[in-house]
Amino acid sequence: MPKPKSNKSGDRELGMHAPITRRDFLGSTLLASGALLFDPLTPEELLAQARMDEFTGYGGVGEYSTSNGNTLQVLQAGHKIRDAAYDSLPIVETNETYDCLVVGGGISGIAAALFFQRQAGPRANCLVLENHPIFGGEAKQNEFLVDGKRLIAHQGSAIYQLQEPQSFLAHFYDSIGLKAPRLTYQKWAGPQPEMPLSRTPYDAVGMNYGQYGFWFGAQFGHKPGLWVMDPVRRKLEGAPISAPTRVEWLRFLIGAPVDEKKFVHPKVEGDAVSRYLDSITLEQHFMERFGLSQETVRTFLCPVEGGGSGLGPDALSAYSDYAFEMLRPVADETGAMDQMFPGGNTTVARLLVKSLIPSSIGGPDTVEGVSRNTVNFTALDAPGAPARIRLAATVVAVQHDGDPAKAPTVSIAYEKGGKLYRVRARSAVMAGGSWTSKHVVKDLPESYAQAYAEFYRSPCMMANVAVRNWRFLYNMGLSGCRWFDGAVGNYMEVRKLALIGGVDPTIGPDCPIVLSLKVLYPYPGLSTQEQGIRGRGVLMSTSFQEYERRIRQQFTDMFGTYGFDAQRDIAGLILNRWGHAYLSPQPGFFFGKDGKPAPREILRKAPFGRIAFANTDLAGAMDHRFSILEAQRAVNQLLA
Ligand SMILES: Cc1cc2nc3c(=O)[nH]c(=O)nc-3n(C[C@H](O)[C@H](O)[C@H](O)COP(=O)(O)OP(=O)(O)OC[C@H]3O[C@@H](n4cnc5c(N)ncnc54)[C@H](O)[C@@H]3O)c2cc1C
Repeated sequence: MPKPKSNKSGDRELGMHAPITRRDFLGSTLLASGALLFDPLTPEELLAQARMDEFTGYGGVGEYSTSNGNTLQVLQAGHKIRDAAYDSLPIVETNETYDCLVVGGGISGIAAALFFQRQAGPRANCLVLENHPIFGGEAKQNEFLVDGKRLIAHQGSAIYQLQEPQSFLAHFYDSIGLKAPRLTYQKWAGPQPEMPLSRTPYDAVGMNYGQYGFWFGAQFGHKPGLWVMDPVRRKLEGAPISAPTRVEWLRFLIGAPVDEKKFVHPKVEGDAVSRYLDSITLEQHFMERFGLSQETVRTFLCPVEGGGSGLGPDALSAYSDYAFEMLRPVADETGAMDQMFPGGNTTVARLLVKSLIPSSIGGPDTVEGVSRNTVNFTALDAPGAPARIRLAATVVAVQHDGDPAKAPTVSIAYEKGGKLYRVRARSAVMAGGSWTSKHVVKDLPESYAQAYAEFYRSPCMMANVAVRNWRFLYNMGLSGCRWFDGAVGNYMEVRKLALIGGVDPTIGPDCPIVLSLKVLYPYPGLSTQEQGIRGRGVLMSTSFQEYERRIRQQFTDMFGTYGFDAQRDIAGLILNRWGHAYLSPQPGFFFGKDGKPAPREILRKAPFGRIAFANTDLAGAMDHRFSILEAQRAVNQLLA
């Protein structure tokens, strides 16, 4: 089988021609080409097709293999909406009318359909239109087959927290089958001394055990770079930084504010502290609280501190760092709050779908049931069923049939398989996110449109790298590390997985694992909006092959002298590209600015006619719990 040729020097040593990513990538391109069955492509055509989709790249195996992040197809459909390219297409009448139509099959959209079904009663019907080949939105997973083992990793949404047992969220989790939210994780195996491991990509437990490293790349004057091991406990000894930078950065790393008494945590959303925090940037807040210089924030804290909102601290409201706390998670017996399924919140999305359409996934409505059993795609959109999910359907227009104050229905146009269709609904929930909703609702009033214009979403790419073993890290005494040189991503972590869905009960340095690199695109100093636009340009114009090369080179630079061999050890790579991954709230986003209401409040306050708005971005905090809460509010508003 032909492979894309690469003539860059060093590619062979980096493993750019190694089988799994290249071969499987071409293999999946081949399979994805349905026409091939009837009209075989020449090798040249095949190569051209493969190159064309150098954006999407290899998608792994299993149910999510054609839906890694936003694929080229999804991206192109999205841009056609923006450019009104569908407006002139003829439309096919489906003659379908629903009580509720939900745009977007992420956690918020599916939760909205479920709330609607539960509250409106068994006679009401509902349709979810989702533009990807599988539901879940940012809560999807990647699957690899490495040396006969199935490896799973999250594409986006990763962790969830335990909630107070009597809280609404705890009851809701329970109602969808998430009945024992505390998970059990892999145990250590093998003759080597045990290394404590994180449960999530964000724990960095190695920091507490001297198992963590900071890598200072070539821009710090050492080629290819320099390792500083156990950086916090050894007080950044050997780091190529100035003495004052060391002092202030350490203050931040150990969490020792200049004057702790000066800072009070916000207690409830909207109190005086939270409003003050929303009036400044997170960068200003870190500078005030930890006595940091702007340069230290931009060089060493950006973008990781702020990564939950997709950009560095300079671009974000300081309240964005605290908004998540307002949902009051509780710790488990180990003191940890964060839990994670092997594929992240994919499991939450699957539980929601199973609750909405019981025959959609085989087996019982439990975590284990939805993890082990496959999706029955036909059952998702069964004619006459009270709830339906239609996949690969991009909604391009939503509009009231007449005066929004009186219209009995809303018309929804969607594209599927190159054709445009129309359905009608007595109510609609826009759960797809601000970046499409603002284009899709054709009769959106000016006040809502202006509010949406202040929602800035930033790109992110989750690069999942399957390695045959992580002995190179173990040899270095590392369970996680962070790097500071503009390379791909900023950190990674060896994770012990929750024992769900047939995951191996043990882990050791010779086990294959997936290392997840979360790649953000910050440009400190530019406005929040400009940073998003520029980052999207880079995300969209960098090919799979180029990212693959950079990642292989980076791993070789960092770990090559510790036994890592890119050609031998990298077993697969999946890129999950999200052009509009994160809502990045600028100062004033949460509580308003200059006496004007907060943009999110305008969209949340009341539906527009028969259309209500959901999605996690309305909370200003990217978290699946907010996706659920915003869905509940939107449905309550419609039913009221
Ligand atoms: C990299 C990353 C890491 C994250 N980590 C976490 C985490 O650890 N824990 C956590 O709780 N949250 C995390 N999140 C936040 C995540 O956004 C939420 O958890 C949740 O998955 C969002 O669900 P949603 O339904 O609100 O939005 P989405 O998941 O974005 O769902 C919206 C869906 O609607 C589709 N859509 C949009 N427009 C249209 C249209 N016109 N027609 C049809 N379909 C459309 C979209 O393609 C998408 O599939 C993370 C997000 C990212 C990007």
